[in-house]
Amino acid sequence: MTGDLADGGRVSAAAAPQEGQPDARAQRVAADLLRSRIASQFGRSLHIRTLDTGSCAACEQEIRLLAAPHYDLHRLGFFFTPAPRHADLLMATGPMIRAFGVAARKAYDAMPGPKLVVATGACALGGVYPDDAFTHGSVDQVLPVDVWIPGCPPSPLALLHGLLVAVDRLAEKVSGLSFAVDEPGEVRG
Ligand code: SF4
Repeated sequence: MTGDLADGGRVSAAAAPQEGQPDARAQRVAADLLRSRIASQFGRSLHIRTLDTGSCAACEQEIRLLAAPHYDLHRLGFFFTPAPRHADLLMATGPMIRAFGVAARKAYDAMPGPKLVVATGACALGGVYPDDAFTHGSVDQVLPVDVWIPGCPPSPLALLHGLLVAVDRLAEKVSGLSFAVDEPGEVRG
């Protein structure tokens, strides 16, 4: 289920269903993997701060579904927090509008380490507004992205799959293993 870490943690569209009803067995497998990895590697829950950098709100809607009873993300040890200072993982949606770049970087800087950035949805990956003058074009122009989740919007199962990859990334950071992440330069509006 996990993405290949050698490919930069990118979650391929082929690896996670994007349309139709999510497969129940695949959900259970992903859920069991997540729960056991979080428990064994961290011994505590992980907290997610969502960051809308100019999305159409459909990505947020799918993320919100993760906390609904059907997916019940909390049982896996993930919780949402409004406070960047309490967050382990930043889930950023949208193409990073220029007016929000500095604020997004401040939110990231306020998070304690080790921390992760998950670019969520085609806009965040740069596939929708790559040349728009009012946006940076993609989240990685402003924040150091660890995991990319494609889809417009990504399905809840694709989001779960991305979180599974993110847990591996965080384990690498906790253990001190090094890996390459593109560090964006100074943010300008
Ligand atoms: S990726 Fe699609 S669903 Fe998500 S914010 Fe962009 S346009 Fe909306």
